Amino acid sequence: MNTQWFFTESCLICGVTLVSSESSDGICPRCIEEIRNAPGPFRLHIGRSPVVAAREYGGIIREALRAYKQQGFRRIGHTLARELLLPLARTHQQEEGFSDVIASVPAHPGNRRIRGFDQAHDLATRIAVEMDLPVERPFRRSGRTTQKSLARTAREENAQHAIILRRGDPGWAKRLQDRRFILIDDVVTTGATIHRCADLLEEFSAVSVAALVLAATL
Ligand SMILES: [Zn+2]
Repeated sequence: MNTQWFFTESCLICGVTLVSSESSDGICPRCIEEIRNAPGPFRLHIGRSPVVAAREYGGIIREALRAYKQQGFRRIGHTLARELLLPLARTHQQEEGFSDVIASVPAHPGNRRIRGFDQAHDLATRIAVEMDLPVERPFRRSGRTTQKSLARTAREENAQHAIILRRGDPGWAKRLQDRRFILIDDVVTTGATIHRCADLLEEFSAVSVAALVLAATL
């Protein structure tokens, strides 16, 4: 008797059965196409530092982020970073001439515990590898309040107070001084978190900070 094993895989976003040759990080070609064609990028005017969002938060982008963050399908991060963030980072690099460091906005510790990973750092690491730049995690969260439980105004204030600079190893400060940062986050809503991070880096003698995010709730 011949026993044959068939391994089938489903699209991590829409669930359609994937043909092995067309699989890209577990996402079907149709979903990839939809991700590429979703509205964006957008230049956001929400503070002093330039913020560019690759796509509007909604539709396929919301579905992809849900599968990535809430269901823990980390492979989706490959696709999102490659398709959406990397082109923005390369354009920024071309326009500005140079970037020194990729850094991530910190996830709330509570959220990270639930997901098992820090999605912004995950994305930042993928971008850094592609661009052959170092990746830093200059911030950490303090306090216990989760962002979701707060109203918008309180959330902005909470973001201001909750993010502090991580002061770890002795070489840390030197690595951040006089650097041109690309700051990475997954979703921007009010922009308060990103601007808190940018302000902290500038206080620490960063030359410039540009923020690139996957999606913006417009
Ligand atoms: Zn799909």
